[in-house]
Amino acid sequence: MENHHQYDIAIIGGGPAGLTAALYAGRARVKTVLLERGAPGGQLLNTEAIEDYPGFDHITGTELAQRMADQAVKFGVELKTANVTSIRREGGKKVIQTDDGSFLADFVILTAGGEPKKLGIPGEKEFQGRGVSQCAVCDGAFFKEEEVAVIGGGDAALEEGVFLTRYVKKVYLIHRRSQFRAQAILVEAAKKNAKVEMVLNTVVTEIRGGDGQVREVVLKDVDSGQMRTLPVTGVFVFIGFQPNVQFFDHREHLEHDPLGFLVTDSTMQTSLPGVYAAGDVRAQLTRQITTAVGDATTAAIDAVKKLEAKKHEATPIPVDLYGPTRPDLIVG
Ligand code: NAP
Repeated sequence: MENHHQYDIAIIGGGPAGLTAALYAGRARVKTVLLERGAPGGQLLNTEAIEDYPGFDHITGTELAQRMADQAVKFGVELKTANVTSIRREGGKKVIQTDDGSFLADFVILTAGGEPKKLGIPGEKEFQGRGVSQCAVCDGAFFKEEEVAVIGGGDAALEEGVFLTRYVKKVYLIHRRSQFRAQAILVEAAKKNAKVEMVLNTVVTEIRGGDGQVREVVLKDVDSGQMRTLPVTGVFVFIGFQPNVQFFDHREHLEHDPLGFLVTDSTMQTSLPGVYAAGDVRAQLTRQITTAVGDATTAAIDAVKKLEAKKHEATPIPVDLYGPTRPDLIVG
């Protein structure tokens, strides 16, 4: 038997969902570890300003992440930096393998979020980090007074596109349809911004450059099929996420939607008993900080309830401790 670190609950991923699950598990006084490969915060760390988290008119992603992490640690949760490579079942428990040892837990809460989706077009990989980016907060300042393309029509593209106008001369917001998926308030803000030019019903088919730097994108009008080039030095790709669900091997079937997001019941339990999913990794209508923390609260509370029931099963409560005998149960 391997020498595992033993916990009641293991949380995989340290974004808002993971940190909230940690807070609730910690407050319930169950032995909890949160495994995160980077700094705690997840996508909060790529978000400059948050204005839609109740109670905060305005807070930076970094500050909210720090507050959430501090709060979880205050209630006794262990935050460990570890890259989870696999999870398997062993008896009634789950073994979580990481690059730095293994962990044994009764319950797992998966809050590992997702990775930015790729366009899969020529030039995207070649110019990654040399003009192609998935993070306006991280890279925007490198494009001062330049012209850049932002690709996508969801919340991220609209929000990050407007954020980039702090630095750049012009943002071409390139979207494959004429309707946006993003919230109306974000679309309004982009339309009002003089530095943003909408390029609709258009897809990018290639990113071209020279001397290791992006110089232009090739555009195709989806209605007419007409091609043209647009000179830009930066290409910010915000076309959604792929969930991080690769931890279980192919013999374990975790029910998921057509895009790979995990399907749960109303307690956030996946199709694998004892494994919960919360936040961006879960199949749901929207992916907000508020929905992530809500999911995680439900998951942690249910896991704690099941953990207590499991412990009582192991050491049955003496009959006389059940309290006064219910008259309806008296036989004869
Ligand atoms: P998203 O909502 O899935 O939007 C992806 C966008 O990219 C869509 O407009 C989609 O077009 C487009 N797209 C997808 N694949 C494409 C491709 N191959 N080529 C060109 N365009 C493509 O993703 P997101 O904006 O990253 O947001 C992810 C989640 O985080 C969402 O639930 C969002 O609400 C949330 N989020 C919230 C905030 C906020 O509230 N402040 C900020 C950021 C993100 P179609 O519309 O045609 O499908």
